[in-house]
Amino acid sequence: MKLLEYEAKEIFSRYGIPVPKTGGVIAKPAQLPAALKRAGKGPWVLKAQVLAGGRGKAGGVRLAKTPAEAREAAKAMLGMKIATRQTHGSSLTVREVLVDQAARIEREIYVSVAMDRREACPVVIASAEGGMQIEELAKSKPEAILKERLCPVRGIEPFQARRLAFKLNIPAAGLGAFVRFLCALAKIFIELDASLVEVNPLILTPDGGLLAIDGKIVIDDNALFRQKAFESRKDPEATALEREAKKVGISYIGLDGSIGCMVNGAGLAMGSMDTVALAGGMPANFLDVGGGASADQVKAAFKIILKDPKVKAVLVNIFGGIMRCDVIAQGVLAAAGKVRLGVPLIVRLEGTNVKEGKDLLRRSGLPLTLADSLWDAAQKAVAAAGGRP
Ligand code: GDP
Ligand code: MG
Repeated sequence: MKLLEYEAKEIFSRYGIPVPKTGGVIAKPAQLPAALKRAGKGPWVLKAQVLAGGRGKAGGVRLAKTPAEAREAAKAMLGMKIATRQTHGSSLTVREVLVDQAARIEREIYVSVAMDRREACPVVIASAEGGMQIEELAKSKPEAILKERLCPVRGIEPFQARRLAFKLNIPAAGLGAFVRFLCALAKIFIELDASLVEVNPLILTPDGGLLAIDGKIVIDDNALFRQKAFESRKDPEATALEREAKKVGISYIGLDGSIGCMVNGAGLAMGSMDTVALAGGMPANFLDVGGGASADQVKAAFKIILKDPKVKAVLVNIFGGIMRCDVIAQGVLAAAGKVRLGVPLIVRLEGTNVKEGKDLLRRSGLPLTLADSLWDAAQKAVAAAGGRP
């Protein structure tokens, strides 16, 4: 789960990391005067709150010297569609704008804490060349990227923070503040079960201060059960169907194709999607009903798949290992009784009680097609959906 900049900054503030004085977020230009007042004396900076970096280069970060300039920026930004190098060709609509007091920048530094899979531990990544795209820098100038490994329990040790400070040429007067900053950043990473905590840029101000003027936090979804503060947060990246699936405990990700897939097990789900693609079609979703899913779960999964108007055929591919094929068949029948099918249904069952399962489906009189193998099923589904979309 990705947090927006202003949410990240609220957390920074709670952990004692200095952030700019803020007027909060606004959703309407009419809220601007109060926000400017809260942010204090100008100039101000207005920032589009979307889940993508690179806003600066895409018109999503604007400095305003006067309230009139701020009004103009707020009007231009609210409702605008923004496409940055991180939105991969599509665009995001700006619904909220953060109003902060603008900072004076002496230097921009990049700092983040992330999981290093090769090292199998969290690492602090830092570079004196902040504000730039770190991925590019990593390629063109890998020696400019500094790393310190973290203990996943204790976080960063002060000597490690000092070592980084020296390499980053932090002035002696700012050393204490930098060490406190880095310890707090590592603490956030560990306590919030984050997979990324990034400050780009962390700035040095002309009077020797330190300020996090941008922030990004990604919480590991697998830890949300113990991160109660985020459990009820509406994930702005999830679609309505994805939210519905999450509520009933089904792994579902909407995709662009026309073949709805209902599969048990993540590996089989991915294999099924590949096979559909190999047969010339495109999956409409990834859906894993889980190994031990009940008939109710299957019914819920069915409803979700059929709510997607892009779906032109449904492919059910179930391996009855933990779950028996007759249970799946009952789920399919129960669901078909509740929702209007409207599209061809292709079912491939294999495993425990496969004969009973297939018999149940055959006897039901439902207009469904039984397939003998995954390859057979994928081809039938692609043909039923009318080929490549
Ligand atoms: P991003 O492009 O989405 O990462 O947005 P940032 O918040 O990092 O802003 C991009 C750039 O805008 C920063 O690297 C700064 O150079 C500039 N910027 C952002 N906030 C301020 C500010 O308060 N004062 C000044 N002078 N520049 C700012
Ligand atoms: Mg940034």
